Amino acid sequence: MTRVSVLITNIGELVTNAPQDAVSVASPGPFCAVNDAALVIEDGLVAWVGPAAQAPAADELTDAAGRAVLPGFVDSHAHLVFAGERGAEFAARMAGLPYSAGGIRSTVAATRAASDGQLRAGLARLAAELAAQGTTTFECKSGYGLTVADEARSVALAAEVTPEVTYLGAHVVPAEYESDVAGYLDLVCGPMLAACAPFARWVDVFCERGAFGADEAAAVLAAGEAAGLVPRVHANQLGPGPGVQVAVQAGAASADHCTYLTDADVDALASSGGTVATLLPGVEFSTRQPYPDARRLLEAGVTVAIATDCNPGSCFSSSMPLCIALAVREMRMTTQEAVWAATAGGAHALRRTDVGHLGVGARADLVMLDGPTHAYLAYRPGVPLVARVWQGGVALGRE
Ligand SMILES: [Zn+2]
Repeated sequence: MTRVSVLITNIGELVTNAPQDAVSVASPGPFCAVNDAALVIEDGLVAWVGPAAQAPAADELTDAAGRAVLPGFVDSHAHLVFAGERGAEFAARMAGLPYSAGGIRSTVAATRAASDGQLRAGLARLAAELAAQGTTTFECKSGYGLTVADEARSVALAAEVTPEVTYLGAHVVPAEYESDVAGYLDLVCGPMLAACAPFARWVDVFCERGAFGADEAAAVLAAGEAAGLVPRVHANQLGPGPGVQVAVQAGAASADHCTYLTDADVDALASSGGTVATLLPGVEFSTRQPYPDARRLLEAGVTVAIATDCNPGSCFSSSMPLCIALAVREMRMTTQEAVWAATAGGAHALRRTDVGHLGVGARADLVMLDGPTHAYLAYRPGVPLVARVWQGGVALGRE
């Protein structure tokens, strides 16, 4: 890569999530935006941000023509390593059948039967889909292998496309261990973990009726931590349960779903000092379940992220713009709150300080919209508004 600087000018609205008077920003701040702005990229980083009229010279010039520029989306929850599809299950659900955790097993069977090449091709297709929709950082979980070998290859394949790899051997108990849950937990916390930890940064567990209970989940997270992984939890998706409390007690980076919360759960998240509530509204959309109460969390001071949960069962959408539109329309978040949650919120959920904002020194991950403000993401739902994407300062799809 040549060391050229790029000036993007004539930006109608530049969302920075960084205070304007800060010379350099070490992590995402609150929602902030500059009108009639410009931004300079140098060496893959944001080098300058401010009013277009004061922009310095650069080697190359891009005219945004009044369009909005945002930080690239940070999708902190996705299940992208799998084979097969479950379109018929979705259609049946829309015809009235309920969603349960059991459908995961059909994807497990397809994934085990797939070659490495098939899994890699599917992963590449989804990664490209994410990028085309403005996602510049994404997390990717295992969890459809559920044998030592299949989980290990899942995290190894995920590590080819993202540094944010999550070991989810504790997704569900596979059919062959149905009568020996303790034996499966020994595997998850022992040989499977040992095989996966070198490729992963995170450990996750599906703490839910039909998956794993509180003590089991806590044991999985503790074992993961002992192997150097940081906890995150699928919590309180299908009904009230212990997931959020388990997450907070483990110091998890995120409790994901948070659809059915008690006041004690909300209090625990608010006072956790580091456990983000990651809401996945595409799941409620795709399963016709009630949406989480985002306003209750925000008003309690909880840090809220939005992610896709892209997976073949409960939400086969990789679209952060769709999630933003749902968050605004269905969860009553403001457009500013939703965009912040999809950028800075995701960065918090992945404990990343270099993404989710466009302060000086941040990674130059940018999305240019075909629209003048961030609000267009919810104002024009379903319309492909992502005009251009830069990842680490490199314009995708260009040399
Ligand atoms: Zn999930």
